[in-house]
Amino acid sequence: MGLLSKKPTYCSICNKELTHKHKPKREWNIKGRLCGDCHFDKSKEFYEGKVRQACVLCGTTKIISELWEPRWQWDMEGLLCKECFDSKEKSFEVKKKFCAICGTTMGFIRHNPKSKWKIEGQLCRKCWDDKKAELG
Ligand SMILES: [Zn+2]
Ligand SMILES: [Zn+2]
Ligand SMILES: [Zn+2]
Repeated sequence: MGLLSKKPTYCSICNKELTHKHKPKREWNIKGRLCGDCHFDKSKEFYEGKVRQACVLCGTTKIISELWEPRWQWDMEGLLCKECFDSKEKSFEVKKKFCAICGTTMGFIRHNPKSKWKIEGQLCRKCWDDKKAELG
């Protein structure tokens, strides 16, 4: 009841109140924390390749080892099948030739936006400078 009492944390799988929090691995796609038992079970499942997950783009279910992690520039959550990964990468390649903000065709000098700017593609010098001034 006091302001100092800590909020209890519960395991994301079994809802047990946690005394020891275990961080799930990124590829498990689980938010929150796990108890020791669930963490152990999940590691085992993934290690044995039993876990299936749907591609976030087309919804095809595959075992996790056949799915791909999206590149950080894509700003996506979840995993992709090979086909979606390839087509995503292709469309991303096309986008890369033009500044993502003003659309100017860029030569060899391109600037990668910082991940916190949440911009897909690359930027010309001018837009990069503008964004830097705006967002830091
Ligand atoms: Zn648990
Ligand atoms: Zn897919
Ligand atoms: Zn630009």
